[in-house]
Amino acid sequence: MHLEGQCNCEGVHYQYDGEPDVVGFCHCKACQRQAGGSGSIFICVDDGDLKITGDTIKKYITRADSGLDVNRFFCGTCGSPIVSRCVGFPGKAFIKAGTLNDTSMLNPTVEVWCEEAQPWMPQIPGVDRFERGPA
Ligand SMILES: [Zn+2]
Ligand SMILES: [Zn+2]
Repeated sequence: MHLEGQCNCEGVHYQYDGEPDVVGFCHCKACQRQAGGSGSIFICVDDGDLKITGDTIKKYITRADSGLDVNRFFCGTCGSPIVSRCVGFPGKAFIKAGTLNDTSMLNPTVEVWCEEAQPWMPQIPGVDRFERGPA
C-alpha cells in the first residue's frame, strides 16, 4: 500500500510504502487537545518505511498512561499533527490519518481510550473497543 499525506501549509510531506498494522481511533484527552476535536484517527505502520520531508516539523512530548513518552510530531507553521512515535511501541509510527491526501482506505478496526470519549460520539460499528490503551 502506498500512502501520501501533508500538513495544511504543505511544509511537511510524508509517504509510506508497506502494509499498515492497524487503523484505529484514539479518544484520549491528549489527542483531543492536539487535534482540537474528538480524538484522532491513526494508522500504525513500521516507522522505517515512513519517509517524512520538510523542515517545519516540530515535536511535543506527552506522557502515556504507561509513563512512557509519546513524541507528537506536528507542523510548526500550520499546526497540523503528522505522526506520533510512542516509546512503548518501538519501531512503530502512528500516522495522524486525517492528513492523508486520500482517506478512502481508512477503515478503523479498533477504538482506544473509550473512557475519555466525548459522550455524544457514536461507537464505530463492529470494532474492538478498549476503555484505555490496547493491552
Ligand atoms: Zn504546515
Ligand atoms: Zn490518543
